[in-house]
This record gives sequence, structure tokens and C-alpha cells, in this order.
Amino acid sequence: CGIIGYVDRSGNPAVLDVLDTGLSSLAYRGYDSAGVALADDDLTVIKRTGEVDALTEALATVAPDDVSAGIGHTRWSTHGPPSDANAHPHTDCTGEVAVVHNGIIENYETLKAELTQQGHVFESETDTEVIPHLIEEALDRGGDRMSAFRDAIDRLTGSHAVVAAFADGHGLFATRRDSPLVVGLGDDGYYLASDVPAFVEYTDRVSYLDDGEFVRVTSDGVTVTDSEGTEIDKSVSTIDWDP
Ligand code: GLU
Repeated sequence: CGIIGYVDRSGNPAVLDVLDTGLSSLAYRGYDSAGVALADDDLTVIKRTGEVDALTEALATVAPDDVSAGIGHTRWSTHGPPSDANAHPHTDCTGEVAVVHNGIIENYETLKAELTQQGHVFESETDTEVIPHLIEEALDRGGDRMSAFRDAIDRLTGSHAVVAAFADGHGLFATRRDSPLVVGLGDDGYYLASDVPAFVEYTDRVSYLDDGEFVRVTSDGVTVTDSEGTEIDKSVSTIDWDP
């Protein structure tokens, strides 16, 4: 239901604070569980049924230092009941990629059957979990991360806003269709969120993604491409926000 992603560019990362603030700010959308994936050399995934506070408490004890990027999610379950296992982010079998998703993947049963046949083991009952496994499958076929991400998304029918993080922390990949996703451009880092309140206390410069656009966010910048893969120049608006 709510997504927040952050890539630090200050060298003094406040990733945990940004994710925590973002998830709390998105709580008004309603949710039954929350989780984060923190990227440094590995991915650390922490997720809890219930309030964001329960997650914050868990984060205080287990979060690694020097996290340079991360993604967070508040879930409003559509497929699979609220549980720690069904909370997002979801990962592939290797733990190389973690994914948060808003929306519904209408053809997930077909995809899950195909992936299970190929040897993928599922840990949740969600529709979302097909996405990291599809990315893993595409990476195994030899594509780079953006093409693997695109290949996976191309297989989905239904609505989605998706953000993926990878184990070495070198950036986030995101896209949307019939579900909102906004990019925030700050001095200290770049943000991805389902809604502006998630990051408005850090920056007021935003770019609204359109359906079918893909974005790669690294500490060096934000690159947006259209559905054909052609780079596009997105307009940046300054929002007038009085919290
Ligand atoms: N369909 C997904 C699930 O049930 C995402 C729900 C959401 O948008 O929070 O896990």
C-alpha cells in the first residue's frame, strides 16, 4: 500500500531514519504490516506484522551500519493474509534482490507455477513474490539488472508500483502502472515513494513517473526511461507543501 525508497549521496547515510519517517508518513493509507530491505554488501530484510513502531524497534537492534540504500513498505494485503512472511520486501532464492510492490498481479498463479517448475522456492503466499524470482531468472539468463528488471515487469498483468534493491547497494530500480510512484530529488539523496508525504520533510523537488516508465536511481543520479528503453528528460516540480 505504501512504498518508500532511498539512495544516499551524502556519504553520511541516514537511510534508516528516512525509511522509518517515510513509513510512518504513509501510515494514513492504511496497512497491516511493514518491512524494509537495507542494502550494503548484502541485503538485510526485516518485516513485522502490525504497527511501524514494531518494525522500528526491531530495526534498532539488528540494522547494519553503513547502509547506503534501502526500500520500505506498508502492506495492505490482497493475496495472502497479514503475516511476517507475507509482509514485503520479498526476495529471490539467492537473496540478491528484494522487492516492494503496491497493487495486484493478476497472472501471478500462472507465473508462480512456471517458476516453481523451474526450481524456485516460494516463502510467501503473496502475488508479489513472483517478481524477485522473475528478476533472478532473467539475471540467470545473462541480462544486466535493468533489462532483468524490465523482463520481469513485462511478464506482469494488473496494477503495480514496484521498487527493487540489490545486494551491493548500488542503486534502486522502479516502475509503475496504474499505481502511483514519485521521485524526490534531495541534496542528501534520492527518494522513491508512492506519495509525496513520505519524503516531503527532506525535499520539495519531485518528478512524477508516468505509467510504463522505468527509473534507475544511484548515488550519481536518476535516469528515467520510457517503455521502449529510451531515456527521457522528466520535468521537476517544486511542491508547495505546508505540513
Ligand atoms: N498484492 C500485494 C500483497 O498482497 C501488495 C498489496 C499492497 O499494495 O500493499 O502483498
